[in-house]
Amino acid sequence: MKLTDPTQTLAALIRCPSVTPEEGGALSTLGEMLGQLGFSNDRVTFSEEGTADVENLYSRLGSSGPHLMFAGHTDVVPVGDKEAWTQGPFSAEIVGGEMYGRGAVDMKGGIACFVSALARYIERRGAPEGSVSLLITGDEEGPSVNGTEKLLAYAKAKGEQWDAAVVGEPTNPEQMGDMIKIGRRGSLSGTLMVEGIQGHVAYPHLADNPLRGLIKLAGALLDPPLDAGNERFPPSNLEITSIDTGNAATNVIPARTTARFNIRFNDIWTAESLADELRSRLERAAGETGLRPGRGPVRYSVEFDARSSPSFLTRDNALIEALSGAVAEATGKTPALSTTGGTSDARFIKDYCPVVEFGLVGKTMHMVDERVALSDLESLTGIYELFIERWFERRASETEAR
Ligand SMILES: [Zn+2]
Repeated sequence: MKLTDPTQTLAALIRCPSVTPEEGGALSTLGEMLGQLGFSNDRVTFSEEGTADVENLYSRLGSSGPHLMFAGHTDVVPVGDKEAWTQGPFSAEIVGGEMYGRGAVDMKGGIACFVSALARYIERRGAPEGSVSLLITGDEEGPSVNGTEKLLAYAKAKGEQWDAAVVGEPTNPEQMGDMIKIGRRGSLSGTLMVEGIQGHVAYPHLADNPLRGLIKLAGALLDPPLDAGNERFPPSNLEITSIDTGNAATNVIPARTTARFNIRFNDIWTAESLADELRSRLERAAGETGLRPGRGPVRYSVEFDARSSPSFLTRDNALIEALSGAVAEATGKTPALSTTGGTSDARFIKDYCPVVEFGLVGKTMHMVDERVALSDLESLTGIYELFIERWFERRASETEAR
């Protein structure tokens, strides 16, 4: 296999059916490629009750600083409707200048391009003066319990330290060079329960409809908007994701009802300050009895999920400039520095070193016929190679200046 050719490195990875939590040969294949480039591999399996065991890979080249980390995942989401695929989801078929396969863009493609970029870099100028490591999990698309979070802690306990990290998730909405992610919004979920008194709809004075209370309280969650966003972040947004009463009868006032909601929030808030704001909104609205003539305050309870994720913003300008400079040089475009989208494993990495994200075009991720343009693979490989070059050069000149 020619490691400098991303179509070859990607095809080898796509052919490993690594649907979470199956390793599928993907980490072994990647480890072999990295071994050929001089990396030493550390395979480690993490377990936790109630979840499947998952394999992970930490691979490092070099023993001195500065130390650059590339992070990602080899696991993929299920193929979905297999019959609907025009090419085999694990066959890596090339049709019309595109390679098909589950994981082509999310994110075996990003890993393949990084490996090929390293191979080109090493071929042209030898190993970087410092270290490069790959922190690769098989548990990103699943529960994300036995993956990046544990692998970071494991590597740190062995003495690993990093100066910067790049996550190779697909970040470009339309074309290569559109967007670098330099932070992410946080996520917080909650459940609101409203209690009433069950009864006959024809005798409402004997009952108390919890849905009236819920409408009041839900309105208070949604309005006014949480904030207007800021320079780096879009406005925080709350969505009510379900209202469940489970009442099939049209002549019965139900006893209780439940609503679930999720907020994607910017760095104006923490999960705690946001929960406080929502609690006080609910408390105020519960006392307003407009929709409940003759009734006291709404009886309700609210619970916030313990597993929230914080928002973060990377402030390492040297890292951001090395990456955006490489993107601009390779594509002629100035990438947007964005904090939009869902959460990613960068939320764990940010506790260890500054982290940015850049990968392929995300349009077909998780879809039937996931595929990547071969020209995009070439483009990303070129960008990663330039980035590695620029990042190590910057670090070297900073050390000299000191
Ligand atoms: Zn992904």
